[in-house]
Amino acid sequence: MTPITSLCVYCGSSRGTNPAFFKLAQELGGDMAQRGIRLIYGGGRVGLMGACADAVMAGGGEVIGIIPQHLQDLEVGHTGLTELKVVDNMHTRKRMMFDLSDAFCVLPGGLGTLEELFEVVTWRQLGIHDKPIIVLNADGYWDRLVGMIDGIIDDGFAKPAVRQYFSVANSVGRLFDLLAAPADTQEPDFPERL
Ligand code: AMP
Repeated sequence: MTPITSLCVYCGSSRGTNPAFFKLAQELGGDMAQRGIRLIYGGGRVGLMGACADAVMAGGGEVIGIIPQHLQDLEVGHTGLTELKVVDNMHTRKRMMFDLSDAFCVLPGGLGTLEELFEVVTWRQLGIHDKPIIVLNADGYWDRLVGMIDGIIDDGFAKPAVRQYFSVANSVGRLFDLLAAPADTQEPDFPERL
């Protein structure tokens, strides 16, 4: 598999109540900088998004943020990045994040994060792409999501193959192992916990 050079990180615009999640975002950012992997993200300074971007920049890495004009205030457009692209709307933002990335990683987050995850997973289901998608399951945060998807499969509304469209990693190290593995060995390994 071609090595990953740009990783899209979807995560909360809030910090959440578990301090481990903020630390995880920082750890991921630091490791990305060390590995020379560019961060592609939503361009905000707030929450886990900001923590991850700050850690990449602090480690001497590259960050491209993409933010719609109308969210510049709400998510506090990050002016300390390698590049901040200000676009017209959410659709352009998400499309650009998709196009610029070799793979996707999902940290704890809220409804926006879920929406972004489901968009790339359903695009994979439709055969629009085959880029790796890894859910970072910090403290079992995403167990509920995995349980819901299992239930949807059990109830016959999705094929079991959906489980192959994304992997679940229990640590940042495991995330990079999965990204380095050939696509056909990327077996989902949930429900691991940190
Ligand atoms: P959240 O997980 O709700 O804190 O949002 C994380 C990121 O997802 C933020 O940068 C949001 O702007 C973004 N996002 C993407 N799509 C949506 C959407 N449809 N609704 C709300 N936020 C979204």
